[in-house]
Amino acid sequence: MSKPVPVPTTDTAHYWQACDGEELLYQRCGDCGHVQFYPRRSCVSCHGANMTWLPSARRGVIHSFTIVHRPPTPSFDDDAPYVVALIDLDEGYRMMMNVVGDDRASSAIGRRVRVVFEERAPGRKVPQAMLEAAP
Ligand SMILES: [Zn+2]
Repeated sequence: MSKPVPVPTTDTAHYWQACDGEELLYQRCGDCGHVQFYPRRSCVSCHGANMTWLPSARRGVIHSFTIVHRPPTPSFDDDAPYVVALIDLDEGYRMMMNVVGDDRASSAIGRRVRVVFEERAPGRKVPQAMLEAAP
């Protein structure tokens, strides 16, 4: 069974198209400066509609994580045990991603990660995190 592929909406199509090109985008409000993820039509802080897309440097830190031993669907059986983490990106927004890579069991709060992309279907990619080398 294959893993789910994102279904873009009007608000997220630009974001997913960038992911397919291995670029990670986030939004900043042109009125109040608030940074947000996931993509939305308006600012969650001031409700303005002056949102700007910016490229992320794709670096961050693990805020929290859990290790999944029993996947909710068979499509993730081959990955188990796998890591689901909240990642605080350096630009000031938070994303939920899997930590991938052979060393994923070394995930820890505070560990630095970089964002990579996993191809879920031909040309369709989702962001994932990989641990940076331990200091
Ligand atoms: Zn705002």
